[in-house]
Amino acid sequence: MSTHTEVNEWLEERQGRFIGMADQIWSNPELALAEYKACSLQSDDLAADGFTITSNIGDLPTAFMAEWSSGKAGPVIGFLGEYDALPGLSQHNQDVQDPIAVDGPGHGCGHNLLGTAALAAASVMKAWLEHSGTSATVRYYGCPAEETCEGKVFMARAGAFDDLDMAITWHPGSTNTVWAGSSLAVNNIKFRFRGRTAHAAANPETGRSALDAVELMNVGVNYLREHVIDAARLHYVITNGGGAPNVVPDDCEVWYFIRSPERHQVEELTERVRNIARGAALMTETTMEENFVSGAYNMLSNTVISEKMMAILDELGPIEFTDEERAYGKTIADAFPREIRATMLAMENLPKELIEQGLNGEVWPIRDADKVLPGSTDVSDVSWIVPTSQITTTTWALGIPGHSWAVTATGAMSIGHKGMLHAAKAMAMTGADFVLDPDLLQRAKDEFAESTKGRPYQCPIPAHVQPRKP
Ligand SMILES: [Zn+2]
Repeated sequence: MSTHTEVNEWLEERQGRFIGMADQIWSNPELALAEYKACSLQSDDLAADGFTITSNIGDLPTAFMAEWSSGKAGPVIGFLGEYDALPGLSQHNQDVQDPIAVDGPGHGCGHNLLGTAALAAASVMKAWLEHSGTSATVRYYGCPAEETCEGKVFMARAGAFDDLDMAITWHPGSTNTVWAGSSLAVNNIKFRFRGRTAHAAANPETGRSALDAVELMNVGVNYLREHVIDAARLHYVITNGGGAPNVVPDDCEVWYFIRSPERHQVEELTERVRNIARGAALMTETTMEENFVSGAYNMLSNTVISEKMMAILDELGPIEFTDEERAYGKTIADAFPREIRATMLAMENLPKELIEQGLNGEVWPIRDADKVLPGSTDVSDVSWIVPTSQITTTTWALGIPGHSWAVTATGAMSIGHKGMLHAAKAMAMTGADFVLDPDLLQRAKDEFAESTKGRPYQCPIPAHVQPRKP
């Protein structure tokens, strides 16, 4: 029996275990850094499967690594998983918007499927290594807090990915393809100003307003926008603007994301934003404190791995959806205005006519190879440490926005399950193929060495910064 057939059969046999796990994580949505249930569910599962567990990676209580080794020489293959949910995206397992808990968390990015498929790939690859007597080490990384770009970056700083030969991952989506695009590098920083309080009417002259500092900083940054590259993104929210208008606030905070296509551009832009913060403090006679939350690189996809994964997706063929599933997807898709869906399809380079469909199981060519997508992910940090690639499979309705109730709505039913198992198969087959073909692995490593030449990974998070408490 061929390796791919074996992997396929093992996955089918164990699918109940993986579907049960994904549904359990979906039913217990946990926010970034608080994924205690998902983390123990997954680490207990892999411990029972014969993997050795290392917990608390990078001082993150919900990060772990599971490893199984044939005990002989061979490459180390890593599968990256995530399990954090998003606030406000609670949704019943149905095709009409209705939260289980109003404003409650939900798996609106499909990470219950993401982590479980990566775990499934690791488990099935281990079964294949054992059965075939092939030499290699397989690892699953349980990575918390992807949504805040924290998990993998702290894990990277702790050296968790340094001895991998390659990393494989995926993201739930609305089509089956390899996503070979780049993403924006980011710094995530809070600026806190402290002044002197006073009665705002009786003795304002003795007060020094921390809110003035926040507002002047934002004005400064908004003027800076004219003098940055088009692809840069600067966004902020005021997380503490004081308590009442009649009290001069002495303690205020503004939270910034600073993004650009390349890491060095983010560093340079951050320095300019810092200067504006310093200037705002000087103008208002307040003090400024910078709290660096996290940062991430831009994504560096490996072409050798991407092309292999594309060939595997082609070989696997489309996901077969039933008429009932298509109707479910269509109801969800129709809940969104056609303009939004048209924009989403265009972003994914999909034909306009697909707007009439609610669900698409076909295989599409490699996507976005030369594009920078205006978002960030901490998978990028791994991609600058080892050759890395990722696929997407269909787990949600076509043309709907990510981070919405519509994603949660297909995450614990047959549509999500099918996409998840499909992704797990493709990832496990990829791992097996690279173990069986050392020359192919070497080509992936050569490409990585060439593209990172003279630009070694330097963790964006300064050494003194500790992970925040959830
Ligand atoms: Zn996501």
